[in-house]
Order: sequence, then structure tokens, then C-alpha cells
Amino acid sequence: MPPNRRNTGESTVSVLTAPPDCPICRDQHWLQGTDGLVRCQCQAEEDRQRHSEVLWRISELPEPLRDASLKAFDVRHRGNRIVRDAVVGFLSGSMTTPWLAIVGGFETGKSYLAGCVVRGSVEQGHYALYRYVPNMLRRIKEGFSNGTSAEEYRRLEEPEVLVLDDFGTEEWSPWVVETLSELFEHRYERDKRTFVTTNLSLEKWPEQIGRIKRRIEDSAKCTIVVNNAPRYRGKKG
Ligand SMILES: [Zn+2]
Repeated sequence: MPPNRRNTGESTVSVLTAPPDCPICRDQHWLQGTDGLVRCQCQAEEDRQRHSEVLWRISELPEPLRDASLKAFDVRHRGNRIVRDAVVGFLSGSMTTPWLAIVGGFETGKSYLAGCVVRGSVEQGHYALYRYVPNMLRRIKEGFSNGTSAEEYRRLEEPEVLVLDDFGTEEWSPWVVETLSELFEHRYERDKRTFVTTNLSLEKWPEQIGRIKRRIEDSAKCTIVVNNAPRYRGKKG
């Protein structure tokens, strides 16, 4: 007797249950493995999409940068080509250092590239977090009044890829220096991938942040790329 038929005793009738979409788990989505329940392969694509949605949300990449794409980055100027290639190396893992610092003038596309790094990392399934440094410091500071400061700071230590956009525009108060030094130190010691953009050419970094500078200048840990391109004019064409 075929499995979708049963004998009622009087006659054989068809039971109107559709066959399962997934013959492996019979649409239960979980299978009994040797160490407990395991996800069925039929859920892989849906799980991947759900995971990707979560990664996008927790990246906190601002909306205007979500469409950032290396393919659309204007590389007519050699400086832009060099930084683009560095970002490609950072994302592909062909770059040997865990950190990449982009030094460039005003409006040379640094934030756009920061968006590309977050997007590329998320698409690879990594937890990446975007932070515009002046806002990041303000959020930690504001957190002192409602007790969220430590949590806000800790979130910077966790991501697989931390993107710090526009470092170096702040006033170097002892608190700012200490906070940033501690963050850089934490990620430095653990080889945690970090992408930094700054307007501030290295020779202008003030003495107070010498400790951060020494970390950035450690060529075993950080690749520094200087973009001498003029103001960025957006997409190709
Ligand atoms: Zn299944």
C-alpha cells in the first residue's frame, strides 16, 4: 500500500496530506544527531538570510553608507586606486596585518570606504560594527549619566571587525586619550581586525596619543595607506 493511503476497513481512501517539502526532516527543520538536535540542510539558506539580517542590524551602519560598493568607488585618481586595493586586501584576507588605517584629506571617500568594509564583512558573515568616532565618544560620555557607558564601551571590544571612521578630530582630553588608548590596546593585543580612517596625517598626531600612534605604526599589525587624491566626487561617470 502506498504510504499516503490507508485502509479504513471499508475502502481504501486517499489522505489529503501533501508530501513534505523536505524528505530529510519531513519539514521539522531539525534532525536527531549524535550530540543532540542538528539543523536540517533545508534550512541553510533561510538561516543564512536571518543571520545576515542580524549582522546588518547590529553593524549600525548608517543608511546612506549601506549601498557603499567598491565597484562604484571612483578610482580615476591613483590615490583612490591604492586605497581601494588596500580595502580589497583587508576584506579578502590577503593583507597580512589585522589593521588597516586610511589617511586622507577632507572628502576623499574615507567614510564611503568604511561603509564598504562593513558591508563586505557582513556579506562574509562577520560581525562588523561601524562607529563614527566623534559620535562614539559622545555616546560613551552620555552613558555616564544613565549607566550605559561601560556597556557602550564593551561593545567596541567585541566585533570581529571594528570600523572607526574619522579618528583624530576630537579634543585630546585625558578622558578621550585614555578611552581610545584602552580600546586600541585591547584590539591590538588580540589581533582584532580594525579599520581606521583619519584626516590627521601621522606627523600631526599629538604627543598625548603617542601610545596609539606607536600601535598604528607597528607594521606587523597595521597597514597605513595615505590617499593623496583630491576631494571625492562620488560614483564613476
Ligand atoms: Zn529538512
